[in-house]
Amino acid sequence: MNTLETRHYPILIIGAGPGGYETALLAARRGVEVTIIEKGPVGGTCLNEGCIPTKAFCRHAQMLDELHDAETFGIRNVSYSFDFQTVIDRKEQIVKQLKQGVEGLLQNKLIQRIEGRARFVDSHTVQVGEQIFTADYIIIATGSVPQMLPIPGNDLPQVITSKEILNVKQIPDRLCVIGAGVIGLEFASIFNSFGSQVTVLEYCREILPRFDTDLAKRLKQSLSKRGINIQTQAQVQKIEQDGNGSLQIGFLKKEKEERIEADVVLMAVGRRANTESLNLDDIGIAYGKKGIEVNEHMQTNLPHIYAIGDINGRQMLAHAATFQGKRALNHIMSLQDSLDLNIIPAAVFTQPEAATVGLTEEECKTLGIPYRCHKSFFRANGKAVCLNETDGFCKLLSHKENGRLLGGHLFGPHAADLIQEITVLLQRQATINDLSDIVHAHPTLGEVILEAAKE
Ligand code: NAD
Repeated sequence: MNTLETRHYPILIIGAGPGGYETALLAARRGVEVTIIEKGPVGGTCLNEGCIPTKAFCRHAQMLDELHDAETFGIRNVSYSFDFQTVIDRKEQIVKQLKQGVEGLLQNKLIQRIEGRARFVDSHTVQVGEQIFTADYIIIATGSVPQMLPIPGNDLPQVITSKEILNVKQIPDRLCVIGAGVIGLEFASIFNSFGSQVTVLEYCREILPRFDTDLAKRLKQSLSKRGINIQTQAQVQKIEQDGNGSLQIGFLKKEKEERIEADVVLMAVGRRANTESLNLDDIGIAYGKKGIEVNEHMQTNLPHIYAIGDINGRQMLAHAATFQGKRALNHIMSLQDSLDLNIIPAAVFTQPEAATVGLTEEECKTLGIPYRCHKSFFRANGKAVCLNETDGFCKLLSHKENGRLLGGHLFGPHAADLIQEITVLLQRQATINDLSDIVHAHPTLGEVILEAAKE
């Protein structure tokens, strides 16, 4: 090891996803030198095989939905053919363009980029190939990988994850999605619009188990109405291939054995922190099943090592990783901040979209917080009626005694964009009355939030 070249840096970041690269850019903007190590392309899961390529698919799905709806708008005899290869090509072009953007931003004299796989040698030292790097502070941002159910048949080639489904050669006639979480529902919605016959098998009583149940129930109705077959309380047990090449997916529902047939199975049962190959055990970093353990500053049990994003398993969301990185950097630089890492909005890009921030009704009950519930519906929103997108609602929760907003839950047109308003209000500790005094432009979808807050 003494023969290897050793270089010393103030801050070393491992992983260039939205956690790692955004933190590197922030450090550089603050005049701090930083080194970032990445074994793959910049942008991580989000840009290469997650949020961005999925949203490219969503746009095609939305376009097809609009074509199906054309008659409503007096546009008759629409005939079209759908070239799936264009979906893949356009997705790749979008990813390429955005990746070039990130590459460009990282070309900064304060940022040193290293390509390769990092492995801890000791708690201040990381090895990448033949190079050795030492640092005062190290930020681990190595993300997560899709999880597979440990069931027979999980290794069949037609059983794929969110990574492979972005590169399938053709639209499957019959798609079975295991898991009605965010990933499962987004792809169920996309492939339903693409023309696949979609079945979703979910283990829990309701879809989106971590979301407000009221929202989840209504979204399930809405997706079912669009033709997606959603089976809850379905425990998938095995996948077999029959003589015709079809997949037989066996599951237990209310103690009864059932099965469905499909051409492709999408495994969407969660993601696992990418702790492997870092050599964490040898340097004594504490981690569990969910990922590396961190405190509110994102510090691990070794105070000069931080872990941000999916690797700590707190909230597996790109924007959570970015802001956890900001918190870690602030802590390294002894800067105070007003970040509230409990107020993290989340969106599901189904058709219609769903979004959530803050506490759910179930969480208010569990925590014993006295609350009020305020609701409004898109069917009474002028803009939504004009768009012919009236499915959906807004639900706000406020503290029964002081009126403070506790949470907001939306599903309906542009829910993912609309949730930002509620996020700002939660962050600023606004009350339901503060919201009802904010003038909203008319006619806009955002009025659905104002409507819910009206006295
Ligand atoms: P998830 O944890 O959100 O959902 C997994 C689902 O699979 C759960 O509903 C769970 O009950 C179900 N499940 C588990 N075992 C099962 C079984 N044996 N049979 C049937 N169902 C089973 O995980 P995900 O959807 O894979 O997403 C992973 C992470 O990525 C999440 O944290 C998610 O928030 C994040 N993500 C976010 C976005 C976004 O923000 N739009 C998009 C994609 C992914």
